Amino acid sequence: MQFVFSFDYPHEIAPMNLKHLLGGKGANLAEMTSVLELPVPHGFTISTDACRAYIDGGWPDGLTVEVDRALTELEERMGKRLGDPGDPLLVSVRSGAQFSMPGMMDTVLNLGLNDVSVEGLAAQTDDPRFAYDSYRRFIAMYARIVQGIDSMEFDRLLDAAKELAGVDSDGDIPAELLRYLVGAYKELVASETGQPFPQDPKVQIRGAIEAVFGSWNGPRAIAYREREGIDHRLGTAVNVQAMVFGNRDDNSGTGVGFTRDPATGDQGVYGDFLVNAQGEDVVAGVRMTEPLAELENHFPEVFHQLMEIFERLELHYRDMCDVEFTVEQGKLWMLQTRVGKRTGMAALRMAVAMTTDAGIKLSKEEALLRISPDHLDQMLHPQFATTKFEVLTTGLGASPGAAVGKVYFTSEAAVLAHERGEDVILVRKETSPDDVHGMLASNGVLTSRGGLVSHAAVVARGWGKPAVVGADQLIFEGGGVRVGDNLIREGDEISIDGTTGTVTLGRLPLEVAEPPEELDLLLQWADELSAGHMSVRANADSGPDAEVARRFGAKGIGLCRTEHMFLAEDRLPIVRRMILADTPADEEQALEELRVAQRQDFLQILRAMDGLPVTVRLLDPPLHEFLPDIEALLIKESNGTLTKEDEKLLEAAKTWREFNPMLGVRGVRLGVLKPGLYTMQVRALLEAAMELKRAGGDPHVEVMIPLTISKPELAYAHAWVEEALAELGADDGLDVLFGTMIETPRAALLAMEIAEVAEFFSFGTNDLTQLTYGFSRDDVEGKLMPIYLAQGLLPSNPFKVVDEEAVIELVNIAAKRGRSARPDIKLGVCGEHGGDPESIASFVKIGLDYVSCSPYRVPIARLAVAQSLV
Ligand code: ADP
Ligand code: MG
Ligand code: MG
Repeated sequence: MQFVFSFDYPHEIAPMNLKHLLGGKGANLAEMTSVLELPVPHGFTISTDACRAYIDGGWPDGLTVEVDRALTELEERMGKRLGDPGDPLLVSVRSGAQFSMPGMMDTVLNLGLNDVSVEGLAAQTDDPRFAYDSYRRFIAMYARIVQGIDSMEFDRLLDAAKELAGVDSDGDIPAELLRYLVGAYKELVASETGQPFPQDPKVQIRGAIEAVFGSWNGPRAIAYREREGIDHRLGTAVNVQAMVFGNRDDNSGTGVGFTRDPATGDQGVYGDFLVNAQGEDVVAGVRMTEPLAELENHFPEVFHQLMEIFERLELHYRDMCDVEFTVEQGKLWMLQTRVGKRTGMAALRMAVAMTTDAGIKLSKEEALLRISPDHLDQMLHPQFATTKFEVLTTGLGASPGAAVGKVYFTSEAAVLAHERGEDVILVRKETSPDDVHGMLASNGVLTSRGGLVSHAAVVARGWGKPAVVGADQLIFEGGGVRVGDNLIREGDEISIDGTTGTVTLGRLPLEVAEPPEELDLLLQWADELSAGHMSVRANADSGPDAEVARRFGAKGIGLCRTEHMFLAEDRLPIVRRMILADTPADEEQALEELRVAQRQDFLQILRAMDGLPVTVRLLDPPLHEFLPDIEALLIKESNGTLTKEDEKLLEAAKTWREFNPMLGVRGVRLGVLKPGLYTMQVRALLEAAMELKRAGGDPHVEVMIPLTISKPELAYAHAWVEEALAELGADDGLDVLFGTMIETPRAALLAMEIAEVAEFFSFGTNDLTQLTYGFSRDDVEGKLMPIYLAQGLLPSNPFKVVDEEAVIELVNIAAKRGRSARPDIKLGVCGEHGGDPESIASFVKIGLDYVSCSPYRVPIARLAVAQSLV
């Protein structure tokens, strides 16, 4: 196997497409060298194959020979030799994986200098200051990066030298003092490592290459890959490149540039540069940089050449590129390019603009593929308006957007603070249905436990409320929360970013940019492409949510969870009265009150979705969720502080207590046990629909039964709907469909029979996953899942990305069997997977009619459907 490729190696395909082999940086250096023929200092790339081999079994056989041969060739081309006492060749050693990865080893510059060659460089350039400056930079870099010595020590010596010379800037230290500094640096290395600083350039190079390979498995790199879902097996490439010197003199410099504005997508000249500087000086912030446009004044010819290169790069990559360049004594050198990172707004505006760009001629399909879910999230949710803050801790970004407010630890306190007009962040170990009013009153939610489909995460996403969950460094103690040395008390201000999972102390400024007009256009293209395949509906439980969903382009409601209507503060007592009822008359009275209330809710929702289908799921959760916490009542009992009301609640709580509530009396089973309940809900819904219709509206109602296991059970439930329809005399052409969720494996397998009763299926893939795996979602997410993922026992969290092997198979079987019994059966998905792009692609493949997701996720789902079809 060949490990080493020079930048102009004649690959069989364009090197820019060989990132898996050459890494991103190496692939583009080769592309610029051999395809675009831009001025790039010569060099070669050691492939990712070599890195993988090194990780598996140490320094690979044959690599030394290949590297030596490549170095000799480089020496010949440059007309200089490594370590030459007269005119030495210097190189940089640069890491570069397939995906750009912070946390990988930094670049070592000026490699090849030693005590002898530095004199050669000084004589050759007639500039001892430059030579010693390069050498002391090299020693410090090599010591820090390759030998792991703390850079503070070198900084201390540098500061001392500046003080001694009475100068402020590194560049003003006189040559003699720099030479002295080099000596001090070398002594430091010797005392830290017990060995003299390596003088042999071959030894230096070998050290740097091994350090790059080794950094692939450094903790920072591993953590980054975990977060971004990058394969740990990829490995990194290493680039060895002849040095050019931006720190040569005032006719030299170094800079970075973008072919368009990466923040807005506007055309123009964007970037920074520094005269007489090297490498990271531009981004390190040690000196004030100048805007790239100023380059025209310093080096007009270089500037025009660079602008020409920008144009060629854009045409070639057909996208916005960023570049790193250096000017050495008036000559321009390109050191890096890649398709540049950009904000959501810039991504969108550039993608649309490039469809009408005469040179780039992006197709609509290509434009759609340029936008990521993160891009849309950035545009639809507030963000921190600054990057200058200290991160307190991080958790999982569970619901995108940023929020600031005062911390409250209970839902009651959160509600009171909200009523006082405060911005609230609810901070809890985890949330439960008891906390929904507290969450509703909060600007954001932070929990220390739970994963991306924990209660807090799911509810927050549904409302578009920023949430960070599973921030496990938060320690609850003494009525507050501690993170390391920081104690947060009630009322303290914090800021959270639910996109990145960042938590910080204090109140950061927020901004939410108005989405650019291109957003609608692009999503319209997405819908055109998706037409006839799959549409996107929303999960919404209230009129306002339904309105938001419609604004985001939802083609109806795929899941209206009626239990949320029961949890509202003014409804909960009525529900409790119904559960506690001593007599049928009392129960009926409570049901009647609920009916009137629900009817109003339904009317609002149907109105907001006029003309579009609205799927209403009848009550689903176990009844105990509507009762107070049994533990709290038991404590009261032992204190003897139970009220009469409490006594009844405790009794009911005991009656409804279940060992496995998720497998107990819930869903349609609840309906079977309390038939009046479902009949009441259906009546409320149908009455609302008829009222809307009489007012000239166009309601389309879909009544959905949860957790079905068989045809007889579903037929039993169907009778209630028929009954309500007959009772209301609703034969005036009201459009009512009857259907069921498919969330038990049994229902999926018996879909043929069930479809004889059901006019539609909605796959509740949360429960279907839960029941297929036998995983209690709320229990496995915290402790078990991370270990399963880390050990590779599961490829991904099946509650986040739908399981391709079994769950999708069940969906597929149910879809086929359902269609065979009823060819025009409507098939949809509700639940968290309906908003996940990867899962959406799987559902598109099966040919389902729609997915339903939270309102704020609708644009992302619309895009994902189209992208899966491109
Ligand atoms: P990163 O991946 O962190 O951007 P690079 O490998 O691009 O690291 O190196 C950082 C900087 O070092 C480059 O932007 C460039 O300024 C400088 N550099 C790297 N190689 C060379 C070289 N051969 N000649 C001059 N400067 C170089
Ligand atoms: Mg770079
Ligand atoms: Mg369910």
